[in-house]
Amino acid sequence: MSGARVFSGMQPTGEAHLGNYLGALRQWVRLQDEADCIYCIVDYHAITLEYEPARLPERVLDLAVSFLAAGLNPDRCTIFVQSDVPEHTELAWILNTVASVGELERMTQYKDKSAGMESVPAGVLNYPILQAADILLYRADRVPVGEDQAQHLELTREIARRWNRRFGEFFPEPQALISDAGRIRGLDGQAKMSKSRGNTVGMLDEPAEIWARVRTAVTDPQRVRRSDPGRPEVCNVFALHRFFTAAEPLATIERQCRAAEIGCVDCKRLLSEGIVRAFEPMRERAAEYRAQPARVREILGDGAARCRALAQETMREVRERMGLRSWRERTAAGG
Ligand code: ATP
Ligand code: MG
Repeated sequence: MSGARVFSGMQPTGEAHLGNYLGALRQWVRLQDEADCIYCIVDYHAITLEYEPARLPERVLDLAVSFLAAGLNPDRCTIFVQSDVPEHTELAWILNTVASVGELERMTQYKDKSAGMESVPAGVLNYPILQAADILLYRADRVPVGEDQAQHLELTREIARRWNRRFGEFFPEPQALISDAGRIRGLDGQAKMSKSRGNTVGMLDEPAEIWARVRTAVTDPQRVRRSDPGRPEVCNVFALHRFFTAAEPLATIERQCRAAEIGCVDCKRLLSEGIVRAFEPMRERAAEYRAQPARVREILGDGAARCRALAQETMREVRERMGLRSWRERTAAGG
C-alpha cells in the first residue's frame, strides 16, 4: 500500500473505548508503516449533538493522548484537530450541493440518532457530508473505520464520483478498510458500544474502573440462576472474551459456561483481567503523555500545519474548477 494516503477520524465526544480501539485505532496503528496516514480529532462532528463547550478542549486533548497511548507515533503519521483546518467546512458546503437529501435520510446512523427527537438539527442529517469532506480534502485512498461507518463511506464514494463527473476527475474514490472486529456491542449487550451512550469500557480506564464496568455487563438473558446452562453464542461477555482471552482458556470458558460450571461473575472477572492486561502498556504511555501536555499540543500543532497546506492545495483546485474565487482574474483578462 506504499504511496497510499490513509485518512480517518474520531470524535472527541467522550473517552475512547474498546470499540474504538478494536474497530479503528488498532488498524490505524498498523497502517502507520504502510502508508501516509492522517488521523483527525473531528471536533466539528462532536458539536452535532448537545455538548458542553467548556469541556470540549479537554476532551480534544484527552483523545490525542488516547491516540498516542494506542501507539500512534507522530514521527510516522500525522495527527491533528479538524477545526485547526477550516477548509473542512468549506468543502463540506460545496459537497452539500452535490449530495441529495434522500440519500442522507437513508443513512442508518441518521435514523438511529434522529429517532424520537422533537426537532432534528440539520447537522445530524448533513453529518456524512462533513465526513466526506474530511476524507476528500486529503484525497485519501483508504479509510480505516469500524463496521458502523461502511454506509457513510459508500456515500463518500458516490459524492466523489458525482463531483468528478461534473467538474472533472480529481478526487480518488476512497476505499473503506473495515475492521474485522465487527461491531462491538456495549455493556448493555444490545446497542453498539458508543461514547455518547455510556455503555463503554474505556481504553484507558484504571483496573478498578474496568472491573466496576465489566461487572455490570449484560450476559445471556435466559441464564437466570447460576445452575442454568449459558449460551456463549448470544452472550456479549463471551463475544468480548474473543479479543482478550487466548484460544485454549477461551474454549474452556465456553465449555464450562454451557455446562453451568462457571458463573457469569467468574467469567466477567476473567474478562476484566484480560482487558486490564491488554491495555497496561497503553495506560503507561498515556500517563507519560498526560505529564507533558505541551508536547501533545506541539504534536497537534505540527499536524495542523501539514494538513492546512494539503487542504489549501486541494481547495485551490476545487475552487478553480468550480469557477469560484477566480472571478477577479478571469474577468480582468483581456481588459
Ligand atoms: P459517538 O457515540 O459520539 O458516535 P463513537 O463511539 O461511535 O462515538 P466515533 O468517534 O463515532 O465513536 O467513531 C470512531 C471510530 O470508531 C469509527 O471508525 C467507528 O467505526 C469506530 N467505532 C465506534 N464504535 C465502534 C464499535 N462499537 N465497534 C466497532 N467500531 C466502532
Ligand atoms: Mg459514532
